[in-house]
Amino acid sequence: MEKSRVLIVGGTGYLGKRLVKASLAEGHETYVLHRPEIGVDIEKVQLLLSFKEQGAHLISGTFNDHQSLVNAVKLVDVVICAVSGVHIRSHHILLQLKLIDAIKEAGNIKRFLPSEFGTDPARMAHALEPGRVTFDDKMVVRKAIEEANIPFTYVSANCFAGYFLGGLCQPGLILPSKESVVLYGDGNTKAIYVEEDDIARYAIKSIDDPRTLNKTVYIRPPKNILSQREVVQIWEKHIGKELNKSSISEQQLLASLEGQSYAEQVGLIHYYHVCFEGCLTNFEIGEGGVEACQLYPEINYTTVEQYMKRYV
Ligand code: NDP
Repeated sequence: MEKSRVLIVGGTGYLGKRLVKASLAEGHETYVLHRPEIGVDIEKVQLLLSFKEQGAHLISGTFNDHQSLVNAVKLVDVVICAVSGVHIRSHHILLQLKLIDAIKEAGNIKRFLPSEFGTDPARMAHALEPGRVTFDDKMVVRKAIEEANIPFTYVSANCFAGYFLGGLCQPGLILPSKESVVLYGDGNTKAIYVEEDDIARYAIKSIDDPRTLNKTVYIRPPKNILSQREVVQIWEKHIGKELNKSSISEQQLLASLEGQSYAEQVGLIHYYHVCFEGCLTNFEIGEGGVEACQLYPEINYTTVEQYMKRYV
């Protein structure tokens, strides 16, 4: 089967650059939207040029110019969007409505992967303010996709390893302490951690796969379904030392929102749902979903054990 041509929007982002790499590695003709607004951001220009050197096509286009998006979309079969959706960086999920308008007009897209790559927003109707904004906005995008009958795949990637494992699942930390850790309650709620390059590889595998058409792909690497306490134990084994452990209760976590910035509050609520409620693991994948590691056993994913070694 011929491989689809892919357009990546948000290809300069944290996840986006990995999607570009994975798409090229899988042999897809890969286009990366390059927006004129980046101006003199030298790092981004260098990154885009490095994509070009690796064989990607750079396409100029912007959300402010509908026709530029239509022109870019017409060049490919599949669009993957990875625009930002983390408030501590920036949050532009609803910009995708403009991309959806362009996909509708172009009329040629066989698959669209919107910027999701986290907790399944369809399961988060009960989420607390203000963190729910991420899920609400992603659901607005889903509704627009489905109303326009655009073929889709939603990738639920669970926890990015860099954010969650790096900080031993503590918000505001991305390097693991060798001294101490604060556990959520008893620290026994299970979450799921996925290395970011692996997320990109699973996402790219899904784009030409009929089994993932109009489905949610959950990435659940079996060895990476662990509690915070288990993550800490792996770290302790690597450094040969036990950390001092204290604990924060649900009420204390929620009370700690006061006085924090909006972006920090959004993040804390996400940690609350993942680490106290267990929102990533408290359900079975149902009718509308498939599991990535079962679909693509050939991908040798990074285990938490391997991932934590990088910090030693
Ligand atoms: P980034 O913050 O790294 O940004 C991604 C891209 O967004 C960049 O390429 C940037 O383009 C683009 N962008 C930002 N603002 C604009 C704009 N105004 N117009 C056009 N493009 C814009 O994103 P992440 O990689 O952190 O997030 C991608 C997805 O992953 C999101 O859906 C997010 O919610 C999810 N995520 C999930 C996590 C998890 O643990 N499950 C953790 C982090 C993210 P440019 O370079 O041109 O500015």
